[in-house]
Amino acid sequence: MMPPCSFTLFYFQDVLEYASGYTLSAMLHSDERTVSMSEKKTYKFVCQVCGYEVEVDTPELPEDFVCPVCGVGPDQFDRVDE
Ligand SMILES: [Zn+2]
Repeated sequence: MMPPCSFTLFYFQDVLEYASGYTLSAMLHSDERTVSMSEKKTYKFVCQVCGYEVEVDTPELPEDFVCPVCGVGPDQFDRVDE
């Protein structure tokens, strides 16, 4: 039977591999996105309280938008022009 500690190590390596693979594909994906962004305008907002960033395709955040990190409403977000 496998001792619990080596199982944990295996699991951890799996997660690390998965995480680095995900980061790479996210970077590749964001390159594609930069190219296609000329077609679709997005607006970026940053939470003034916690720094959370969100992108939407409307110039205003929805009235019922709530920051998933700290829970404040759209009035606490600043629009960022890139
Ligand atoms: Zn926030």
